Order: sequence, then C-alpha cells, then structure tokens
Amino acid sequence: MRILLVEDDRSLAIGLQDALGREGFVVNHVATGDLALGAVRAEVPDIIVLDLGLPDMDGLQVLAKLRQRKEHIPVMVLTARDGIEDKIAGLDSGADDYLAKPFDMKELAARLRVFERRLATAVTSTITVGEVVLDTAAHTVQVAGEKIELPRREYMLLKTLMESAGKVLTRESLETRLYSWGEEVASNALEVHIHHLRKKLPDDAIKTVRGIGYTVVQP
Ligand code: CA
Repeated sequence: MRILLVEDDRSLAIGLQDALGREGFVVNHVATGDLALGAVRAEVPDIIVLDLGLPDMDGLQVLAKLRQRKEHIPVMVLTARDGIEDKIAGLDSGADDYLAKPFDMKELAARLRVFERRLATAVTSTITVGEVVLDTAAHTVQVAGEKIELPRREYMLLKTLMESAGKVLTRESLETRLYSWGEEVASNALEVHIHHLRKKLPDDAIKTVRGIGYTVVQP
C-alpha cells in the first residue's frame, strides 16, 4: 500500500517513514499542503496520512480541496490538538480516521492495515491463493502449511500480487508499490525479486505476462 505522508515535523516524518517501511508500507513524504495536493495530482496514493498543523495551510483545507475532487482517497488525520472539536471538524470534513499525537506507532500501523484490507476487499488479514497463505498483520507467508522467510521487498511484492490475484500488474505499478520516490532502483531489480520469489513458491505461482507484467491466479 502506498502512503502519502503529509507532515512538517521532519524527525517525526523520518521516524514514520522508517517504522512504516518496516511494516511493509511504501511511504512518500511531503512537508506542506501545497506539495501534498501536487503529489496527489501526479500519482494517486492508496491513503493519505495528513497532519493538521502544516506551515502553508491548515490540514483541514488540504482535506477540503481533496474532497472537491471526485476520487475518494482515504485520509487519516494526525493532529497534536486532541480536542473533541478538532476531531469532529476533521471527520465532518471527510477524514476517514483520526489519530491524536502522541500516538503509538503500532496503533497507526494497525489502523493502516484496516484500510489496506478495505482496499483489498478482504475481511481478514490473511490472503490465500492456492497453497500460499499470506498474513498481512503477522507479516508471515506459508506455503503448503510451511512457514517461509521472505526479505521485505519480496514480501511486499508477493503481497501486492496476491491482493490483486487474477489481475495482471504492470512492471511500473509494481515498482511504485515497492519503492518510494527517489530510491535508487536497478533496472532489473523487479525481475531479480520475482526470480527469488519463484524459487520459494510452488511452480507457476507467479505467471509472467510477456511485455506487460506479472500475475498470480487462483488455481
Ligand atoms: Ca505539524
């Protein structure tokens, strides 16, 4: 899941990017409302984590501008203000969830997984495709009942493919789900991850769609 993090507190932003990255999320960060609106125009994220106290405009203004557009991007509001009025104002302006600072990183990650499950239209944290079972809360993968260890990117890649089982994902869309902006990515990095994953999964679990990308299908 790609998160756009809008937060002007640099150390908090770095901490969040790091912690959520370890949870398997791709986090792109901007520090102002204006940059956030530009970023959404350039590439629609799966969810926006929005601080209310921004240097150039109020986070609620950012939210209002986002809601003027047609597409509904889930927005989780973060705020240092913990007054009930602010919470109500945020939810009334169309925020989907709300977290008051200081918050527990684990709670933020758990709430983000709720959105992730909604995106994948799954009711539990496990996704099953054939003999492969992936648990997005525990970050575990089992093949035919045996737990396998996957490095972070391979796990993210498999999760992305399994969430869209039956659909073909282009190389481009997979790359945007594996890497955040500005990360150095070797041109064959995706192929290398696919190659390693295939060795750990049942034969034909990941199919190549020549010239387009990859897919996993229910057997
Ligand atoms: Ca702030």
